[in-house]
Amino acid sequence: KRRPLLAGNWKMHTTVIDACQLAAAIGKCSAGLADRDVLLAPPYTVLSEVAHVLQGSDVLIASQNVCWEAEGAFTGEISPTMIKSAGGTAAIIGHSERRQIFHEDHAIINKRVLGALAFGLIPVFCVGETLEEREGEKTFEILEEQLREGLAGVSLQDMGKTVVAYEPVWAIGTGKTASKEQAQEAHAFIRKLLAEMFEKNIADTVRILYGGSVKPDNVDELMAQTDIDGALVGGAALDADSFCRIINFI
Ligand code: 13P
Repeated sequence: KRRPLLAGNWKMHTTVIDACQLAAAIGKCSAGLADRDVLLAPPYTVLSEVAHVLQGSDVLIASQNVCWEAEGAFTGEISPTMIKSAGGTAAIIGHSERRQIFHEDHAIINKRVLGALAFGLIPVFCVGETLEEREGEKTFEILEEQLREGLAGVSLQDMGKTVVAYEPVWAIGTGKTASKEQAQEAHAFIRKLLAEMFEKNIADTVRILYGGSVKPDNVDELMAQTDIDGALVGGAALDADSFCRIINFI
């Protein structure tokens, strides 16, 4: 069985003080959880403070995006080396907000994935369909395109380290969670496709997280699904009590 991974994406929230308080609370309530991983993705501005607060804990730190070069003239971007030096070991890539609001396409997302891996950061690679795509019965087609294009050129070994997050766009920040059946169906499709693209034994080890209005009251039933290995939480990750309940899912 795959080791559960509970991740909090703080998006564009938290000042330095807020971030340190939230990180400290999560550090406390995740202490001693030996059978699961907890990951936080704070904004870049507080990455090193959060890493500092959580030093000595098992909480993992991720950035919310990452460039593919170690350094250079890339105004506004952050490199994998910079993230590692601040205490990060992973990077969210291809979040729907990057795709939709900032028009990141498959090619740029693929460069970010390959860049992260080249520098030893774990990609948390996000895919998901919009409401229009779901209603047009294009969900699987869209997921397949995102996975094939975004993960092009990833080696078998690197795929074994990569985390995939299924985040239906219509469920993000809307309070509308995918039903456990809808989520399981999409996760099973993703795993089957990964087996085709890579190898079955790799696909069987890849953790696939569900994201989209995960809350304390729906996390248990989502986590009980065969192919759901974790959660990528937005809004509820900003509230220490809610996120603590989520990481302590049963
Ligand atoms: P919400 O949990 O706020 O719906 O956000 C999900 C998400 O986008 C996590 O990356």
